[in-house]
Amino acid sequence: MLCLHDSIRDDDPSVQCLLRAVEDAPSLTALILATWQVTRVLAVHLLEAVLAERARQPTAWPPCPTCGASLRSKGFAPRQMMSLFGPIQWQRRVGRCPQGCAIPQVAPLDAALGVQPHQRTSGELQSLGCALAVFVPFATAARLLGWYCGSVVSARAVWCWVQAAGHQAPTHLQAAVDAVARGEVPTPEPLTAEMLALPLALGADGVMVPFRPAAGAPKGKTRWREIKVGVLTRLGRHRTRTERVVIRLVQRRLVAVLGDIDALTPRLWCEALRQGIRSAPQVVWLSDGGRGLWRLFEECFARQATGVLDFYHAAQHLWQAAAAWLDGRTTQARQWFAWARHRLRHGMPDGVLADLADALDVEGLPETARETVRTVYAYLQRHREHINYARYKELGVPLGSGMVESACKWLIQQRFKGVGMRWSEDGFNHLLHLRLAWVNGRFEELFGLTLSPNS
Ligand SMILES: [Zn+2]
Repeated sequence: MLCLHDSIRDDDPSVQCLLRAVEDAPSLTALILATWQVTRVLAVHLLEAVLAERARQPTAWPPCPTCGASLRSKGFAPRQMMSLFGPIQWQRRVGRCPQGCAIPQVAPLDAALGVQPHQRTSGELQSLGCALAVFVPFATAARLLGWYCGSVVSARAVWCWVQAAGHQAPTHLQAAVDAVARGEVPTPEPLTAEMLALPLALGADGVMVPFRPAAGAPKGKTRWREIKVGVLTRLGRHRTRTERVVIRLVQRRLVAVLGDIDALTPRLWCEALRQGIRSAPQVVWLSDGGRGLWRLFEECFARQATGVLDFYHAAQHLWQAAAAWLDGRTTQARQWFAWARHRLRHGMPDGVLADLADALDVEGLPETARETVRTVYAYLQRHREHINYARYKELGVPLGSGMVESACKWLIQQRFKGVGMRWSEDGFNHLLHLRLAWVNGRFEELFGLTLSPNS
């Protein structure tokens, strides 16, 4: 049985001082913060009491890795670690080889506690630091952690934890992608029957991120590089208070890669398999006009999925045609655009295409205007199978690729494009991996711990 008053003495001046601060606190906030400091000290005493108790237990010595002789105790040695409650210390037995082999000293208690030989910060503090770094700059994450553990945490330390955590992950991902390439089926994510009955929507887009010109060179001209982002989500139905049925994205999963579409494709396909693309009752691909993305659709998803060209991009092109053909300043142009947009939206795309074909026959149309109309006509004609918006509305699928754009904003824009930010390739990849783990609900799994009491 633990006996706290062995270690905490209320006549200890440092405890006295903290208790007085609680008594003297004027406001509720000050009272709570002062109590928090007492709680931290209590927690450290509790931790250290448990560790001291464990250190007193008999030690099972492993054999020497070099000669196999049983290691022998050299007595107790101190160990220190930064924790969520501040620095903690304990004494534990360390051993060496009785034959004098040149091996580092061994501490079986540390090994049993899952503590690495050179570790200076405990796991829960590192994972909290990484969780904060998913959302805020390293310096801010370090400062917030410092408030809680009552000690100084450096931005550099948080950065190192993120690198360490993000480092191992790409290998796992690559292994999964390679397995799929060999024809293996990845383990599907467990979904409820209700979820499995919902349509699956997916799409992809690119976003630019500022990088340093070369590794290890903070100076020089910023190099903008493209990140490809893919989104997969089930389309749930939600009834609002005004009895309107709206689409709600559920089970949203993101994939992203620093690289081109060819780098994204196998990752997106792998995740699509995990999300049950083969058994989904309906699959929809949502995208704007980007040619490379539609090539990806044709190669991977055209057999299973209905392709939907983003309605708002299509409408923008219609306006370009209207402005070129009828002069954008005129009422006539605005009227035709409104009518064309309406027909496109409500199931009459062929009428719109016929109008554009007529426009190409208009005599005296300047060549630049004709070229614009021709381009828009070709664009809609190329996507003829992807602009049946009335049908998509009936099927209850979104008409726009907004879910892809908002994913890019959240995943990339919000964290990687802050004022003055420039990334190294490794630094970017490691943090990207943590953000992906977070948004995909795999963060705690990555750290092998449970942070939330409900999960
Ligand atoms: Zn030995």
